[in-house]
Amino acid sequence: MTTANTEVQYANAEQLLAAIQPASGGTEVHDPATGELVGRVAEGTAADLDAAVESARAAQPGWDALGHEERKRLLNAAADAIEANAEALAELLSREQGKPLNGPNARFEVGGAVGWLRAATAYEVEPEVVVDDGQTLAVKHYRALGVVGAIGPWNWPMMISIWQLAPSLRMGNTVVMKPSEYTPLSVVALVHVINQVLPQGVLHVVPGGREVGEKLSSHPQIAKIMFTGSTRTGKAIIRSSADTVKRLTLELGGNDAGVVLPDVDPAAVAEDLFWGAFINTGQTCAALKRLYVPEAIYDQVCDALVEVAGKMPMGVGLEEQNVLGPLQNKAQYDIVADLVQDAVDSGARVLLGANPDGQATGYFYPTTLVADIDPQNRLVTEEQFGPALPIVKVKDVQEAIELANSLEVGLGASVWSADKAKAQEVAAQLQAGTVWINSHGTIDPRVPFGGAKQSGYGLEFGLDGLKSLAQPQIIKS
Ligand code: NAD
Repeated sequence: MTTANTEVQYANAEQLLAAIQPASGGTEVHDPATGELVGRVAEGTAADLDAAVESARAAQPGWDALGHEERKRLLNAAADAIEANAEALAELLSREQGKPLNGPNARFEVGGAVGWLRAATAYEVEPEVVVDDGQTLAVKHYRALGVVGAIGPWNWPMMISIWQLAPSLRMGNTVVMKPSEYTPLSVVALVHVINQVLPQGVLHVVPGGREVGEKLSSHPQIAKIMFTGSTRTGKAIIRSSADTVKRLTLELGGNDAGVVLPDVDPAAVAEDLFWGAFINTGQTCAALKRLYVPEAIYDQVCDALVEVAGKMPMGVGLEEQNVLGPLQNKAQYDIVADLVQDAVDSGARVLLGANPDGQATGYFYPTTLVADIDPQNRLVTEEQFGPALPIVKVKDVQEAIELANSLEVGLGASVWSADKAKAQEVAAQLQAGTVWINSHGTIDPRVPFGGAKQSGYGLEFGLDGLKSLAQPQIIKS
């Protein structure tokens, strides 16, 4: 296999953009904070997708034949290449997605991409002896699947692309990515940097809208789809992949509950509660999206959250002091504004925020905390995916558990308590793929992650994540 192996280092986003943009034409991408042009992207056609899949299919046996050690070496070299271009990538990500450079945002995301890429090289995937009784020997092997299609969202475009491509490549598959139409440049740039070190044909990106995603998820040469996005689109992908019986990993929408127990010190947990909810300005799948607090400490928790939230600067991502940014797009801004208005109209009490400045440039929605809200209000029961947290008063923990479990989704959840044993008892009663104790959304590349109920199926990360990108094969003799 031929490896490009060129050491390229881009000093800033402009240089990186110059390398990935079409010479002419393309679709314009605008900064959600300022409305300024970020760059142009060459949208892929159906023919481009077919060509990418064909190239990936042709490259797959050679990539697989390299073996685990050589693929690990190349993936670590790709992580080095991302590190060498980290600042240019973070700047581009900030301008296209809107997230600030600082805080748990753009630089953090590029660092996460490096960390998850290296983590995909950190495990051995060995054949497993299932039966060996002297008469029967049955061994389970993990074979490559073929070509994996990866379809991603716009909230963490670089990190989620790595979650999809890194385990796929590690296990000997080749990959065709379809980024969100809102953040294509971030993924095209990331793939461009990675492809400096990978052999040709192994990793492709085809930007485009829903139609490209539909074609990818029904393509006869695609063995598996890694999908992260909304539950609605996940259901469409189940349908469009059915005729070819594709393997699916579906990381779908969530509406994560946080359950506070009466023994917490509100001031001590307020900052972690805040970031659990407002990381990436609330545009995070496993963010804390509804908080249940017992009457006894309700006012103290509300006050402590207002105190922390009021101090967090929101603004244009490239300005170093900001830690919160705009919504990424107008459609998401409208969803958040509509849900908060619904809460206000119902008589809920705004502790902070709401009332966006209609004249401001950019899709900035103020950091919003809403108290005394009906548990059935839409701001509680629907995924807001933005900087607005409803705080629901409950009479006791049992009521909080029932409300937490009352929705059709179950990605993550959290329990907040000074008593870990008690918190674990409550955690066991929550219907969610992950329950964090005294934090929320603190994902880790070593720890499997996946949804319960309509938040999806399949596990990412760790050894489980690698195995999910393989075809188990039993050889029995
Ligand atoms: P989305 O479902 O609108 O779009 C995701 C991707 O699917 C995009 O690339 C889009 O072009 C593509 N797509 C749209 N229709 C398609 C179809 N019919 N067939 C194939 N592809 C299609 O999601 P979004 O708005 O980009 O992302 C936000 C959602 O993603 C939220 O619900 C959030 O909770 C969820 N999310 C989940 C996770 C997780 O790990 N569970 C992580 C991040 C985001």
